[in-house]
Amino acid sequence: MFINDSSWGITPVNSFIHPSLRQLVLSTTGQDVYRCRGCSLCDVQAGDQDIPLNSLVQLVLMNDDEALNCRTLWSEEVLQTARSACIRELNLESMILTLRQEALRRGYQAPSMEVLS
Ligand code: SF4
Repeated sequence: MFINDSSWGITPVNSFIHPSLRQLVLSTTGQDVYRCRGCSLCDVQAGDQDIPLNSLVQLVLMNDDEALNCRTLWSEEVLQTARSACIRELNLESMILTLRQEALRRGYQAPSMEVLS
């Protein structure tokens, strides 16, 4: 659902309820995921993830709630490599920790993290 807005044309209604995920990460960590160039070089092969780390960044950019509801967000293996994974020096570890807090605040539950088969 959208509402007309004089400066941007249209504004998603849920932006009045929550800040965008990009805005949240930026204000909490100082990391602007808009700097991501989608190169995929941050991808790690963790057994308990469901989407690549760069896809998680893209979901944040799109303000897609799937970013808060994916297994990759809760992967400790991904978290351990995320701080230095980005060639553009985005601290993806702090992004993940911020998203986890936001997920819990919105009522999402961390999935059980047994290795996917
Ligand atoms: S390495 Fe950095 S710039 Fe490249 S896809 Fe990952 S987050 Fe984006």
